[in-house]
Amino acid sequence: MALKLMPLWTLYGLARGRATTRWRGQGDEPGQAGLLGMPRFDPAKCQDGCRDCAQACLPGAIRLVAGDDGVERVKVDYGRCVVCQLCVDACPTGALTASQDWAFASRSREDLVWSRAALSEEGATLEREIRRVFGRSLHIRHVDAGSCNGCESELQALSNPYYNLHRLGVFFTASPRFADLLLVTGPVTYAMRGPLLEAFEAMPQPRFVMAAGTCAVSGGTNGGGYACGNGLEGVLPVDLYLPGCPPSPPAIIHALLMLLRRVPQRVRGGRIPPGEPPAAGRHA
Ligand code: SF4
Ligand code: SF4
Repeated sequence: MALKLMPLWTLYGLARGRATTRWRGQGDEPGQAGLLGMPRFDPAKCQDGCRDCAQACLPGAIRLVAGDDGVERVKVDYGRCVVCQLCVDACPTGALTASQDWAFASRSREDLVWSRAALSEEGATLEREIRRVFGRSLHIRHVDAGSCNGCESELQALSNPYYNLHRLGVFFTASPRFADLLLVTGPVTYAMRGPLLEAFEAMPQPRFVMAAGTCAVSGGTNGGGYACGNGLEGVLPVDLYLPGCPPSPPAIIHALLMLLRRVPQRVRGGRIPPGEPPAAGRHA
């Protein structure tokens, strides 16, 4: 009878000795085995005149854009991707393939767009400044700016015993006055724009903004509709972009540690370069 009344997490902890993953500490698995991430793109396999992927992509993450030579080529913007995998199913040549690239946070919007040139990171000065100001801890004020609550559900999982975000020195706060980071979810509806700006204004300097989820990055499937613009674009300066619909808890953790310069950015020019170490592993 006592066992029946025991919460699931207590039972899990008793059975395993501990419930919390050591991931990002000692290389344990992040609990995301088999989770599909952003599809990989290989333009060398594209067929001339094929637009199957672009037609399958509901949020417009894939478009055909004419180059200087007048030839239309596929352009992939992962900041608009909702990870539905429909392009992978539609592509007849394997130019788009499924991947487990779920840790897809970026400090610049440009790095989320597939490009031949690998973009560079900010210099060491900014890195030192962020370490000086924040040390190794971070306080977050979350604002739901019109989300479907999918992103919130993943945010909530950060505080469960498995991810146990506090062990990494990252905390949510109810007041923007104590916050270092404004974490925004949802496509930023016109109704939420005012309260969002008020929260930002109430934060002490230096303050940072994170667009969490494809909606906040670009508007996602809702972007440009009657009720909203294109996420945080043109609303607030964004320091950290994390697409995904929704982004998984370890993807959010990876992004937050990236902001604190405790892990490096993995995405360059819209892809994770070959040879890049997996997202799991020891953090600085
Ligand atoms: S996985 Fe992303 S790029 Fe592919 S169809 Fe879905 S939204 Fe578009
Ligand atoms: S990114 Fe996806 S899960 Fe998050 S608010 Fe938008 S639709 Fe919902």
